Amino acid sequence: MRIVVVGAGAAGSLVVFHLARLVAADDRAEPLEVVVVDPIDQVAGPAFGTTDPAHLLNVPASGMSVDPDERFDFVDWCRAEGFVGGDEAHYFFAPRAQWARYLRTRLAEACERAGGRLSARFVRDGAVGVAVVGAGVRVTTADGTVLDGDRLVLATGLPGVGNGWAPCDLSDQPRYIANPWLPDALEPVLADDGDVLVIGTGLTMVDVAISLLKSGDTRRVEAISRGGRLPRRHADTYLGEVVPDTSTWGDSLDEIRAAVATHVARIERLLGNWRPGVDGVRYRVAELWGRLDEADRGTFVRELAGDWLVRRHRMPPSSGRLVDEARRSGRLVVRAGRITGVDAVPAGLTVTTGDDERTYAWIVNCTGPQPDVRKLGNPVLDSVLDAGLATTDPLGLGLITDDGRVLDADGRPGPIWTLGSLRRGELWETTAVPEIRSQAEELAASLIGDVDGHR
Ligand SMILES: Cc1cc2nc3c(=O)[nH]c(=O)nc-3n(C[C@H](O)[C@H](O)[C@H](O)COP(=O)(O)OP(=O)(O)OC[C@H]3O[C@@H](n4cnc5c(N)ncnc54)[C@H](O)[C@@H]3O)c2cc1C
Repeated sequence: MRIVVVGAGAAGSLVVFHLARLVAADDRAEPLEVVVVDPIDQVAGPAFGTTDPAHLLNVPASGMSVDPDERFDFVDWCRAEGFVGGDEAHYFFAPRAQWARYLRTRLAEACERAGGRLSARFVRDGAVGVAVVGAGVRVTTADGTVLDGDRLVLATGLPGVGNGWAPCDLSDQPRYIANPWLPDALEPVLADDGDVLVIGTGLTMVDVAISLLKSGDTRRVEAISRGGRLPRRHADTYLGEVVPDTSTWGDSLDEIRAAVATHVARIERLLGNWRPGVDGVRYRVAELWGRLDEADRGTFVRELAGDWLVRRHRMPPSSGRLVDEARRSGRLVVRAGRITGVDAVPAGLTVTTGDDERTYAWIVNCTGPQPDVRKLGNPVLDSVLDAGLATTDPLGLGLITDDGRVLDADGRPGPIWTLGSLRRGELWETTAVPEIRSQAEELAASLIGDVDGHR
């Protein structure tokens, strides 16, 4: 049985990990051949491809194990590797590069344990086309390679950043870094001491600013976004989560929003901190999202998602301290504004925001991805959508599935599965490892179960 996995990020790699574990545990399992396709040669994906040790996970280590049932596996691995110890080992934010190493290690171990029952092969190329052939799929890559499989897993994630903010085409500007997560993308900026404008004020900006500020003593970094809001930070100590009973929360956005506010305020009153309230709601988000109609979902995405994201996706405390220090010293400025013009000048790029004009040596794009998967320009997604092998929710947030199995334009399940960000339309809270690992485990079982069921 052959399974093609498009995308070797956290999602695709975790699917292979769980497939390997399943076949290793079952003597009667049919041998699996897994082909993973990705143009980027780094298992774990762009988010975890950074080599800067100051780029930390934004989820505590106890939430990052590859197996949701072994909560402290990553913590134990970090201890065994010797880069945390003592009290810190219970609640800490590891460098993202270490998590990539951990994932690769666990993946290699799982494949080894599966022995002859699983063979995994990596094809370094982008998938550009998908066709259903008989009961299986045919995937074509950019260089024309054809990969036939019985099942396809779409694990393409979302691009780390989008370019929707730009008032003009900047793709030819050498002083514009369109995607800081591409390998070595920041190298020319780090090698220079010039001032930098970062577009976006979220977690990617925080990481980029930390790298830039430590690379030059006199450099100033300005960060701009429409709202000028920074992500909140995690608490210094572990506070736990208080998962609410949502049975009486209603099913309209107004009701649910009010109930969330009441829950979080109550927890803050009781525990002196709002974070356990927000973190508890996380466990209910997919179910609450399922109660909303399309109009309410649209309103949430347009008007409330930003507020939720800055509280839910928080920066590690140590990153928060670096940001505070840099803002106090004036080396990091965070402001709200809308960019209306960018012009190349000999000293760099002149940026217009309203009546204000400033020149920077570099612009680094740290804005969020385009929210509509139909407009991402990812050829493999365009291919499945154009062929009617998949459809999206009305907002285009993700693909329509039955528990991860993609439904075609007629609502029928086919040979394609997906997970992670491509399920945002159904679950909303689905882009980070704590959610992706559980989906990967279920998806692996579903792939094999379905394969067995159709033998
Ligand atoms: C800067 C940053 C920091 C983050 N930190 C954390 C964190 O600390 N903890 C956490 O839980 N989450 C974090 N996240 C969220 C993170 O995106 C997810 O946890 C995880 O990386 C998503 O994995 P993924 O495999 O779905 O997507 P990705 O990691 O984006 O991987 C998708 C892969 O698919 C490939 N691909 C796309 N299109 C094609 C194609 N057509 N053909 C072949 N391959 C293709 C891409 O090259 C990529 O390698 C972070 C995200 C970012 C951007």
